[in-house]
Amino acid sequence: MALIVDVFPARDDNYGYLVHDEATGRTAAIDAPETAAIEKALKARGWTLTDILITHHHIDHVEAIADLKASYGARVVGPKAEADKIEGLDDLVGEGDIVSVGDAKFEVFATPGHTLGHIVFYNAEGGHLFSADALFSLGVGRMFEGTPGPMWDGVKRLRDLPDATLVYCGHEYTASNARFALSIDPNNAALQARAAEVTALRDAGKPTIPFNLGEDKKANPFLRADAPELAQFYGLSGADAGEVFGAIRKGKDTF
Ligand code: ZN
Ligand code: FE
Repeated sequence: MALIVDVFPARDDNYGYLVHDEATGRTAAIDAPETAAIEKALKARGWTLTDILITHHHIDHVEAIADLKASYGARVVGPKAEADKIEGLDDLVGEGDIVSVGDAKFEVFATPGHTLGHIVFYNAEGGHLFSADALFSLGVGRMFEGTPGPMWDGVKRLRDLPDATLVYCGHEYTASNARFALSIDPNNAALQARAAEVTALRDAGKPTIPFNLGEDKKANPFLRADAPELAQFYGLSGADAGEVFGAIRKGKDTF
């Protein structure tokens, strides 16, 4: 039986996700952005929350933990490396660990950079990647805590996942990411196509999430930090891809 993913908006521009294991009925929230939005989604589906999987310590990803634990007694799984920054974690996980939600399995990858202990959850069987603020459509999260080299290494690991993977990220930032990406990689046909699609989706009031990883590999400049044309754009031809990644990140910060 399959894993069902429910996508819903939360806060201003966050996404909330519920994953439901049909075989056992267990239901996990991926991050805890907002109590009301999560409860509304649960009610609409008729599901009961059993687990919460947390990616990083920022308030827009953890704020509803206490409420949801009190209401449902849900088990809370989160990053070992941020245990001191997040209240209410029951199980601590890191790189290479497997989290089970009923029969569904989620592999944990470390993706340091946005925060140092940021983790993502990958369900290989269904081809679902919950990337939170580590990987966005056409972008990556702001580098608040990390350094370019390790952040690039983490992102590159995600790039190694199959092209058919569907990515569920933490925010609807795609349109602004597209504007920046086109400014540094204007001749990229895959990027132009995705940017046009994003404009059409947003004009129709639709989310750009989830997105196809294979398409993002061709269009997202942060997944193309080892492409010669991007190194050249920043005058870094021949430089280490991590250094180019850092230049792209800095470019986005001031765009
Ligand atoms: Zn964040
Ligand atoms: Fe966030």
